[in-house]
Amino acid sequence: GRGVDAGRVRAFIRRFAQLVAEHKDELTALDAAIGDADHGTNLDRGLQAALERLPGEGASPADLLKAVAMALIAKVGGASGPLYGTAFLRAATAAGGKAVLEPTDVAALFRAALAGIQERGKAAVGEKTMIDALAPAVEALEAALGRGADLAEALAEAARAAREGSDRTIPLVATKGRASYLGERSRGHRDPGSLSAALMMQAAAETLAG
Ligand code: ADP
Ligand code: MG
Ligand code: MG
Repeated sequence: GRGVDAGRVRAFIRRFAQLVAEHKDELTALDAAIGDADHGTNLDRGLQAALERLPGEGASPADLLKAVAMALIAKVGGASGPLYGTAFLRAATAAGGKAVLEPTDVAALFRAALAGIQERGKAAVGEKTMIDALAPAVEALEAALGRGADLAEALAEAARAAREGSDRTIPLVATKGRASYLGERSRGHRDPGSLSAALMMQAAAETLAG
């Protein structure tokens, strides 16, 4: 492939926003079961704001990721706004001044995003949050590249791992975020943030490599 340039990063942001818009009602319904019924509307509002303020031609991958971070922090609110905002900000920092990201740069970018969410939210795997989708996705991405897979295959595996990680949240009891207020009653429902995180990885797999 030609490497991940600003055009691909832009396509990723657009596709993530599109997938969240398409799944807005599902995300909100999941949050209605174990939270406050706003995850889909929150994230959709933030990503639509991000699309409106994306910098134009000449913007670097970092410029684009930073614009998304700022929009999410300003517009999403709740738990997920600062968490996704931090993720995009850390990704922007990891991208640095590069015009083209190589596969290992992409893995480092997702690793940095995950670390940012974990520093901010203090959730580990198994607490029924977006971390349950993102952590296995980052691990799958790194493992695939480590054994010589190309970026397209590695991102496809990451997206699969994220979706499976989201599936695994269903039987869990939440111990972070609003869903933790429900205790045992949070069991039997998919965590909404784990689904939005899986959609983010799906968007990455569909747009970043090729
Ligand atoms: P709020 O719960 O404040 O209304 P959202 O509904 O937008 O915010 O987002 C809820 C999602 O945020 C949850 O489904 C979960 O995945 C994620 N989340 C909540 N707390 C944490 C945390 N401490 N660490 C990681 N993710 C979290
Ligand atoms: Mg909510
Ligand atoms: Mg809320």
